[in-house]
Order: sequence, then C-alpha cells, then structure tokens
Amino acid sequence: MPFCIVCEREVDAWLPHPNADARSPLMVMMGTVGSDLQHYLCPNCGCNDRDRHLWLYLTVSGLADRFAGARVLHIAPEAKISPLIVARQPAEYIRGDLFPTSPEFLRVDCERMEFADERFDIILCNHVLEHVSNPEAASREFHRTLAPGGYLVAQTPYVPALKFRLEFTDRIAPDRARFFYGQEDHVRLFGRDVADCIRSSGLEGDLFPHGHVLPDHDVDRYGCNPSEPFFLFTKK
Ligand SMILES: [Zn+2]
Repeated sequence: MPFCIVCEREVDAWLPHPNADARSPLMVMMGTVGSDLQHYLCPNCGCNDRDRHLWLYLTVSGLADRFAGARVLHIAPEAKISPLIVARQPAEYIRGDLFPTSPEFLRVDCERMEFADERFDIILCNHVLEHVSNPEAASREFHRTLAPGGYLVAQTPYVPALKFRLEFTDRIAPDRARFFYGQEDHVRLFGRDVADCIRSSGLEGDLFPHGHVLPDHDVDRYGCNPSEPFFLFTKK
C-alpha cells in the first residue's frame, strides 16, 4: 500500500497531475528527468512526488537530522517540506524567493545574495537553477555563503542522455520555452553537465542515483520517480 513520507499516512493511490498528458513531446523524447506526473499528488496532504523524494533523500542521507540547531536557507521553499524542517528546530530558518509569495519570505536573488560569507550550514535550492540567468553565478553564491562542511541540495530537472545543456543565446518565447525547456519560465534544459555547473563554484558533490541512496525504498510504495537522483554538494 502506498505510504506518504510527508504526511506519514498510507494512501489508496497517488493521483496523476491534472495535465499529465500535456508534456512537451521533446521532453518525453529526450527522457527529461522531472516529476512523475502519473504518480504525482498525495490524496491526503497534497504533496507531490518531488516533495516525497526530497524528504526521503534528506531523511535517509541523515541531512534531516542535521537541521536541528543549523542555520538553514531554503530558496523557493517547498510548502510541504518547510513545516518538516521547522519541526526539526533549526537555529535559523530563512525562506527566500526572487518573487516572495508570503510576507514571511525574504527577497533573495541567488545570483547576488545579500548574506555574509559562510552564513549557512545547509542551503536547499530546488528547481531554481533552470530559471536563473547564470547558474554558475548562483552556484558561486551558494559556495560563498556556506560554512565549511555545509551542504547544498539542488534538485534540478535534466536530461541524462544530453552531454551539455541546451540553451539559446537569447530568451525565447514562452511557447518555445515550453517545447525546448519543458516549461514557460525555464531558460535552459540541463544535460549531464549540471553537476559540473555546480562544481565549477568549488563545491564538491554529485548526482547520487536513487538506487544508491534508497536501495530499500520501493518507488511505487513511496510514490517517487526512480530516475530522479539526489543532487547533494558540500563545501570542504
Ligand atoms: Zn501525504
């Protein structure tokens, strides 16, 4: 029986994304790793497969235990994950977004962050690098603002079969962005080089496959996409 790790309840079945059949044919053809649109929503708490996978990765890797007493920056925070982090009682928990949707959020431009060096122990910045103008600059900011021994989690859609990222020289029209990048407001489609992009900042880490991090977790039971790896980086 499916079990939601976010609300910690068994559910009858995962609900599909309402537009599950509306994916760009190019994304399907390329095998873009993103959400599992057929096993998407939890009927109980409304979390999606990315939320569940992220929390599983954080829990099993031991990072969820490190939130206690830590200084945490959460950019574009997942609404279903935030309360789980708060419950771990971090010393500081800053939620940031380029376009804050709540008065509790700070305006944060991750390419130019107004935080001191070595300010954070953990930075979560998922599904952001495909939106920013310069992902290398954002990665340098993560490196700069992380304390030595700190962690960056940066889940990002990408195409494992693509050697280098696909990115036009100029911003393209929304309908073309949807076709080539998978979403109207994406500005690139990463390939396997996404890890190099983040590591160019000096951070160390990789894309760790589901099977390595969660070998004992059945993807149907936990409702997550087995082809989505764990994007985990550290500052030495
Ligand atoms: Zn749930």
